[in-house]
Amino acid sequence: MKYYILTDLEGAAGVTDFAGWCMHDSPRYDLARQLLSEELNACARGICSADAQAEIVAWDGHGGGGLEVQALDASVQLIPRGPVGPTLGMDQGFDAAFFLAQHARAGTPRANMSHSYSYENHDAMWLNGVEVGEMGFRAAALGALGVPVIWVSGDDCACAEAGELIPGITTAVVKKAIDREVAQTMSPAGAQRLIERTAAQAVGKIGNIVPLRFDPPYSMRIRFTRDDLVDTIPTRGRVEVEDSRTVTIHADNLFDFPL
Ligand SMILES: [Zn+2]
Repeated sequence: MKYYILTDLEGAAGVTDFAGWCMHDSPRYDLARQLLSEELNACARGICSADAQAEIVAWDGHGGGGLEVQALDASVQLIPRGPVGPTLGMDQGFDAAFFLAQHARAGTPRANMSHSYSYENHDAMWLNGVEVGEMGFRAAALGALGVPVIWVSGDDCACAEAGELIPGITTAVVKKAIDREVAQTMSPAGAQRLIERTAAQAVGKIGNIVPLRFDPPYSMRIRFTRDDLVDTIPTRGRVEVEDSRTVTIHADNLFDFPL
């Protein structure tokens, strides 16, 4: 079968604050990318142990890039961070999707590095009236293609959020959030063992998880943290300004949104 793995960086074990690990000029950015690459390899090993014919495509979903291509196992094909177009490499040919190293949506109490797309600018977001973050929008995009998200890793808050959106999803909690900029984390080796084991379990339960579907037409409502941000959103949909900090984008296709 064919598997799509969407990676982020903030939910990797060991990576516990934004400034120290997740930005281009962070002192441990190179190490963070190495750790995430090793988690991706562990996820791929788990999938391949349950499905020897697995075809695995990973999309690097972290803003500045979170993966080191030379560190990846032979089983993994990579779509690097960059101008990959609105589908992010997603298509109907995938049998299931995995969300690796995720963070909770903006505003989630206690959650480690919680945000929705922008770390500073987005206060909250809704899809068709349901408050969601990046995971919700991207799971819905996959759902519109008929692809279920069957596994997620990250801190306990990210995994709880995924569990609310997608009943029955397999989770790998690699750190326990203490606050937005600190967490109690598993060691990389321990996290990779957990990721490998649970990814294999998830493959065995593929048929049990239904794709996350929202009915078109779609609305993406965004509340910004400041008044000067409303005019900054790039979009191909129809934009309705609600007040100085809140806009709603309307579209018939989820991929018209800035996902
Ligand atoms: Zn990220």
